[in-house]
Amino acid sequence: MSGMLSFVKPTSDSSVGAFDCPYCGAFAQQLVVNVNASTVTQAPTIYSGAPMTRIRNMTIRECCVCGGLCFFDSGDRLLFPPTDANIPLPHKDMSPDIQNQYLEARSVAGVSPRAAGALIRLALQMLCEELTGTKGSINQMIGTLQTAGVPDRVIKAMDILRITGNRAVHPGQLNMEEDPITVHKIFGLLNLIVDEAIAKPREIEALYDELPEGALFAIKDRDRKSNLK
Ligand SMILES: [Zn+2]
Repeated sequence: MSGMLSFVKPTSDSSVGAFDCPYCGAFAQQLVVNVNASTVTQAPTIYSGAPMTRIRNMTIRECCVCGGLCFFDSGDRLLFPPTDANIPLPHKDMSPDIQNQYLEARSVAGVSPRAAGALIRLALQMLCEELTGTKGSINQMIGTLQTAGVPDRVIKAMDILRITGNRAVHPGQLNMEEDPITVHKIFGLLNLIVDEAIAKPREIEALYDELPEGALFAIKDRDRKSNLK
């Protein structure tokens, strides 16, 4: 993986030597095979009764790590595999309701990045409700979390999702069809928020609880003393 946020999308452009493989997830070199159909003058019959009326030029790229093949039409559109294969799975510490929302967004991302943006914003709303224990506008809940000491980078990631989701549902404000990287980034951002706001604190709490009792007592004693100062 080239990381949660930096995603090099599959392309037929041979000047791009490597991209994130939809099969193995590696940022890997991709061989180029151009299938040139321009010399075919007579449309062949593929199967009985259905003549193929149009032959398309195609580009196939082969992953040097796993051997997986990506098929592109002459307009650099990825025909196969389906584009949601490029999007990471939900973070394991995401609660089941939010995971479902995330997976729904993931399943539509290929055909409607705008719908995906709106669904991810809804997932963020659910996450904020979970973290604050309240309901309200996302903007207000993010403010509450900031006051509660959630790190600035997490707050920023939340604001990016909130604003991107808003713009996705308002016509003309954000054309995600023309910027497919945007739609991949929003999934990475939601996973990052869960990692920072839920998974990491949980992990540290678990390790802290394993400290010997005497050490915990000494820490409490230190904190009590420093509070007295
Ligand atoms: Zn691969």
